[in-house]
Amino acid sequence: MLPELTQELAALEAQSQRRRLQVVEEVLPGGKVRVGGRVLLNLSSNDYLGLAQDPRLIKGAREAAARWGAGAGASRLVVGHLGLHEEVETELAAFKGTEAAVIFSTGYMANVGTIAALAGPGDAIFSDRLNHASIMDGIKLSGADLERFPHRDLNRLEKMLKQAPAGKRRLIITDSVFSVDGDLAPLKELVALKERYAAWLMIDEAHATGVLGPGGAGLAQALGLTDAVDIHMGTFSKALGSLGGYVAGDQRLIDYLHNRARSFIYSTALPPPVLGAIAAALAVVREEPERRHGLMEKAAHFRQGLDKAGFDTLGSETQIVPALVGKNEPTLRFAAALREKDLMAVGLRPPTVPPGKARVRFSLSAAHGAADLSQALETIVATGREMGLV
Ligand SMILES: *Cc1c(COP(=O)(O)O)cnc(C)c1O
Repeated sequence: MLPELTQELAALEAQSQRRRLQVVEEVLPGGKVRVGGRVLLNLSSNDYLGLAQDPRLIKGAREAAARWGAGAGASRLVVGHLGLHEEVETELAAFKGTEAAVIFSTGYMANVGTIAALAGPGDAIFSDRLNHASIMDGIKLSGADLERFPHRDLNRLEKMLKQAPAGKRRLIITDSVFSVDGDLAPLKELVALKERYAAWLMIDEAHATGVLGPGGAGLAQALGLTDAVDIHMGTFSKALGSLGGYVAGDQRLIDYLHNRARSFIYSTALPPPVLGAIAAALAVVREEPERRHGLMEKAAHFRQGLDKAGFDTLGSETQIVPALVGKNEPTLRFAAALREKDLMAVGLRPPTVPPGKARVRFSLSAAHGAADLSQALETIVATGREMGLV
């Protein structure tokens, strides 16, 4: 076995695709981390509202553990559905503006379990080219036919819908905020297509939950389309600062998932401390809209700075701001040069992004200080110029 694995790792290395774990030695205020003994501004985190370190979430986790224990003791359908799960799911449905909601242990499990429960062999799933890997894995697991349309390409999607065989389920799935481009799904147009072609529409609001919409519920809420979307998926692992995935929608959808989503049925219920953190995070999102507004202002300023310097930010409209480089190797060099200047941003390469579209991605957080961000922007632009990228 080992000689073969060694060979495959060497092949990854040769394509600049080998990844390695790095230890974060300490998480510091202001969206900073200590790695390798150095303090870096963390522009790679999904903790968009800075809630992962918030004392209220920590207190919520501690109190939930004290009252309910460290673990739930069983899967939800057996005897792991604690009063706390019931309470948080009720709150979640109110937050999302839907009839009901169900929490999974992770966003990955929510996607895999839900998609495989809703579609099967012979059905067709229409998926944006840039959808998250967990959506792709759910489609594979479902056994349905994959119809992958180019990113945000409504014409291609419509052609595919027209050709889909009648009498089978059609499920359109899209991220609402795309994790690699930071742009938005054309949700209004997707709703029109779903209605015209009798399809179901599922949206993944992992990067939008807590960030977009008047109440922070996501893009569907922002556009007044909550009722038009059949399946609202999202996570607590990003802007909400802890862990867990959810699906919200009609009570009958949720009842069905309780019975058919295998990642829900055959896995232990989320532990009480995590639910305590989720409940506290929902309260913060409800009570402090200024956090998401401030985040959007910071992101707009940062993005405009990159645009002005000549970077292609790929249509980003959110707190996720990519700077396109193109090839793998210079992308890695750019990220490494920034790292030398105490900025932590990830270089994204294929297969995460399409070939020739490697980029460095910056994720902004409400935790970042304005002065740190201005300085970071200057450093990024200067480094890009030195390297001949702009
Ligand atoms: C992160 C992410 C997931 C997975 O969520 P986890 O809670 O990290 O498992 C699913 N979909 C999208 C779009 C994501 O960005």
